[in-house]
Amino acid sequence: LPALTLVPTPIGNLEDITLRAIRVLREADTILAEDTRTSGILLKHLQINKPLQSYHAFNEHHALAQIIKRMQTGERFALVSDAGTPAISDPGFLLVRECLKHELSVECLPGPTAFVPALVKSGLPSDRFVFEGFLPVKKGRQTRLQALATESRTMVFYESPHRLNKTLEQFVGIFGAERQASVSRELTKMFEETRNDTLINLLAHYTTKPAKGEIVLIVEGSE
Ligand code: SAM
Repeated sequence: LPALTLVPTPIGNLEDITLRAIRVLREADTILAEDTRTSGILLKHLQINKPLQSYHAFNEHHALAQIIKRMQTGERFALVSDAGTPAISDPGFLLVRECLKHELSVECLPGPTAFVPALVKSGLPSDRFVFEGFLPVKKGRQTRLQALATESRTMVFYESPHRLNKTLEQFVGIFGAERQASVSRELTKMFEETRNDTLINLLAHYTTKPAKGEIVLIVEGSE
């Protein structure tokens, strides 16, 4: 194995783990996990019994030097997040950068990530798109929104259910009421739903019927 392998894990449906992901998790010396409890449940399901070490946003900077040292003595790590692909709106980027800086090998397995099915199911152009992840909650939010006002590529956002309506309202202001958009909820899960409509109709719908679960929001680019 390389020094570090980023291993995507299911975003809902456990069948989405790949055969290669299972093999790497079996072969790694140590599994770095955003949340050892969440990943512990998945590993138990896969019948993998491995040392788990916590690696999350709050200890990311601190943990780096120690992990790099252990890699240099031959220890092989897998990194998983709570769901989907590590380093995509999740911890991982700093560790990848540090490995590259120290000429340690890095591999990232292809696998589950929420934005790809959401983008494809939106029916909006997927030949060019921008991944915006989570918008800043307060500071910098307006600046970010303004910067996107003239964006011509399809835009991809991660959003939490309790902020969805506020965001849709602001999007109506920035992009216009009639701009096409798409809300994908609970992808790969039992109550998966994708709703493609104008921003104003989506806002009306989720105002009457507040959205639950995890959400990817896709917005058409400007003409
Ligand atoms: N690393 C993950 C990935 O590769 O997609 C993203 C992690 S981020 C902390 C979590 C966000 O991803 C959620 O707030 C939601 O926007 C999106 N997400 C994750 N799972 C999802 C699902 N099953 N359905 C819809 N959105 C999901």
